[in-house]
Amino acid sequence: MTDNALVLFSGGQDSTTCLAWALERFAHVETIGFDYGQRHRIELDVRPAVLAGLRGMAGWRGKLGDDHMIDLAVLGQISQTALTQNVAIAMQDNGLPNTFVPGRNLIFMNFAAAIAYRRGIKNIVTGVCETDFSGYPDCRDDTMKAVQLALNLGMESRFVIHTPLMWIDKAQTWKLAQSLGGDTLVDLIREESHTCYNGDRTHRHDWGFGCGACPACELRAQGYEGFKAKGG
Ligand code: ZN
Repeated sequence: MTDNALVLFSGGQDSTTCLAWALERFAHVETIGFDYGQRHRIELDVRPAVLAGLRGMAGWRGKLGDDHMIDLAVLGQISQTALTQNVAIAMQDNGLPNTFVPGRNLIFMNFAAAIAYRRGIKNIVTGVCETDFSGYPDCRDDTMKAVQLALNLGMESRFVIHTPLMWIDKAQTWKLAQSLGGDTLVDLIREESHTCYNGDRTHRHDWGFGCGACPACELRAQGYEGFKAKGG
């Protein structure tokens, strides 16, 4: 089967937009999520509401299939980062913020490919991005191209990795969501998706829930303002 896809879906803005992108392109779409002891575990709790919202959207009915939830607690155990430990977010000597979980996306892609292999799925979709990223080296286009090659060699497969957000910024990500699912999708992302590193679901802004101060909230807020400024 070539007309199917597996989307890495965390419950955040980026992966929700990628999921809509996949629903627009492929006949059958499944999702995969990872529980690695992230402090913002709340993003896992919002996933069902986002999935339910997408299932209900006209045009995509019947396309969204199984959701695969993978327990990767071991990743939280071996990494000392601000996403998995209760420490303040800060910049490190190597120029990377301490929210960087070493190898996280590499590990995610391996598990995604293993599920795709088992399910006979050709296309793997991930929301990594070089434009707005916090310098995470495993979000780079070259990293993903190398991963695709390694997975296809290592699993004797022909997976195609899609990265629809790779070269666009956060304002353009909101715009992409609007072009895929109109204001219904934009409102679903604002209301139900979660991005905040601090797991804040009490403070409601124009762009959705979050603390408003962490790097993830700042990016999301700036992107939404840019989107609105351009008539979104
Ligand atoms: Zn926040």
